Amino acid sequence: MKRYRVGILGATGMVGQRFVQLLEHHPQFEITALAASGRSQNRPYKEACTWRLDGEMPSQVRELIVQPPEPPLACDLVFSSLPGDIALESEGSFARAGYPVISNSSAYRMDPDVPLLIPEVNHEHLGLLEAQPYGKGFIVTNPNCSTIMLALALAPLEARFGVESVIATTLQALSGAGYPGVASLDIIDNVLPFIDNEEEKIEQETVKILGRLKGDAIEAAPMRVSAQTHRVNVADGHLAAVRVKLRREAAIAQVREAFASFRSLPQELGLHSAPEWPILIREERDRPQPRLDRDAGKGMSLTLGRLLPDAVLDYRFVVLSHNTIRGAAGAAILNAELLIARKQL
Ligand code: NAP
Repeated sequence: MKRYRVGILGATGMVGQRFVQLLEHHPQFEITALAASGRSQNRPYKEACTWRLDGEMPSQVRELIVQPPEPPLACDLVFSSLPGDIALESEGSFARAGYPVISNSSAYRMDPDVPLLIPEVNHEHLGLLEAQPYGKGFIVTNPNCSTIMLALALAPLEARFGVESVIATTLQALSGAGYPGVASLDIIDNVLPFIDNEEEKIEQETVKILGRLKGDAIEAAPMRVSAQTHRVNVADGHLAAVRVKLRREAAIAQVREAFASFRSLPQELGLHSAPEWPILIREERDRPQPRLDRDAGKGMSLTLGRLLPDAVLDYRFVVLSHNTIRGAAGAAILNAELLIARKQL
């Protein structure tokens, strides 16, 4: 199997560390370059990065010298987990220099020629790459961490019954704010009912992801999406309480079956990071829970429970996913695996 040399931009952050961890034993990728801010540059990764994940920092990256997030880097593609404002300049310059850029950042997500990719949901959006102006390079993004969870949960309902409207209320983990993130005195014994720009991202990204490729543009899905977001005192694992109104009538057993049987191209192709089942249904009345369910499918499966008829819209459910795996680094790695399988890398 061909091995690709990868660089990680923002390698010292919460998502960057998750990339390093998930790529340690990956059969197709080998980390050959790491980049971060001026605070970290010119130092070995083991000194520049305070490792905050379980287990030890992988030995293969410990001695790599952290570089500026600018081309050239000694790699075949870059994974990016830079802050949005920095990503705009850095990711654009890598794409212009001929590198494939597989990004987590928000900078390019809503650009009309940039796929906002969830391989199980909208792999055909990769057709947009032909319209990009970068020559050999290109940019593919994954959605915001809460949006991935919502759009993936809605995908089987949209395909079978159509979704007319959706209301999502999220309870989002602390790691979603990066490190050091939210001050401890703000979040202990507390819930914060505001995450900057998060509600807008969920509402705008969801209809792009579930939209259709028409020619060289995405036609947004004709559904109304309303999101309210909250930061809660949980380390990892975003949760959303969701209510949906469907376009066609569906019995609750049909809705449950649509979720439970959902599999798609990554499962058919057997992509390395694809979970066997993208959506796992729990029947217990007190699941999903972040601590118990975030690692389902090695962090790549959603866990969905509390599926019930709703007195205002049609159905309601609670869904949970690991925000730095399915919601960030794992999502980007799955995107790269799909690009390899489609011979676009
Ligand atoms: P983080 O923990 O704050 O890490 C930020 C990374 O960017 C660090 O490596 C940092 O390097 C680097 N950086 C910061 N300022 C820089 C600059 N001026 N020049 C170059 N590098 C710079 O943040 P994170 O949670 O990993 O998030 C990273 C990105 O992923 C953000 O765009 C975020 O919106 C997105 N995202 C995060 C999640 C999540 O669950 N956390 C999910 C989806 C998407 P230093 O260590 O040297 O400062």
